[in-house]
Amino acid sequence: MLEKFPRKKLTILPTPIHKLENLTKYLNGPEIYIKRDDLTGLALGGNKLRKLEFLIGDALKNNADTVITGGAEQSNHCRQTAAAASISGLECHLVLGGEEPTEPKGNYLLDLLMQAKIHFTGEFRKGEKIPEIAENLKNKGKKVYIIPYGGSNIIGALGYVAAMEEFKKQISNFPFNFDEIIFATSSGGTQSGMAVGKELFNIESKLHGIKIDKEEIKNQTYNELLSELSNDLLKHIGLNKSFTPSDFIVNNDYLGGGYGVIGETEIEAVKLCAKLEGIFVDPVYTGRAMGGLIDLIRNGYYKKEQKVLFWHTGGTPALFNYSNELLK
Ligand SMILES: *Cc1c(COP(=O)(O)O)cnc(C)c1O
Repeated sequence: MLEKFPRKKLTILPTPIHKLENLTKYLNGPEIYIKRDDLTGLALGGNKLRKLEFLIGDALKNNADTVITGGAEQSNHCRQTAAAASISGLECHLVLGGEEPTEPKGNYLLDLLMQAKIHFTGEFRKGEKIPEIAENLKNKGKKVYIIPYGGSNIIGALGYVAAMEEFKKQISNFPFNFDEIIFATSSGGTQSGMAVGKELFNIESKLHGIKIDKEEIKNQTYNELLSELSNDLLKHIGLNKSFTPSDFIVNNDYLGGGYGVIGETEIEAVKLCAKLEGIFVDPVYTGRAMGGLIDLIRNGYYKKEQKVLFWHTGGTPALFNYSNELLK
């Protein structure tokens, strides 16, 4: 069903699913499993590579020679885009929020190692200046392909429709169903793709998004954004179904101090996963989502016999930018 869409192979799939025995015991709640999209393969992994397979596929089909995208200084999406562009022979421009750091660390260090061309844009951390910079590049004769913030459009979101097909195949060997899939949600491509894939491949598990960013994109609620993107995606694939905003579970309880502000929730999650499982969750996305899962378990949200899948979406290089916050 997805074969008709151009796709450039960037990942090593399927990513593993395994049980978190120690964390399950420690929390004395439902059985916790993990799906390792921190191990998608290229440039230290992450969820954006799944989207980029379709985005870069489309860029190559359109004969682009340059891609441009944007995000925060520590953007995982930008790091993965730089890697995807590198192995596809494309020039990569990154439009990053903030100012040029004096000591490059984490994702930004990796962007520099991959020789992405960087444009710092101060207060704008969601690619607001992409159109302007893309125009300049076009005027210089570049064939520019624009990848939106987070890679979250109908093309990128196909990556998580495909991920659900992969998941469905994997669990066909399991003697049980997951009651819930829980994950970090921010620009919407991951959750929309999962929601469409859930319908398409008849997956029973509930999808529970832990919201990471307080600020909304465009002038709509996040549930509206998800249903709009999912409906556009359904049309793009050619499916006759539709979503409403209330079809999506978006949990706003763990927004803390806002995007990229590390609090007790994230610190505890990072340290617990490291100590008990040797797994690193990141301080911005997966640490917040795992912190949310831990809190939900402590508050009795799940029954003990239930099974929860934490879908790890990557982001681990950001850890190396936050030693002060994490070790305080
Ligand atoms: C981008 C990102 C997310 C959120 O995915 P969206 O598709 O933007 O909602 C979650 N975790 C990590 C590590 C990310 O980099």
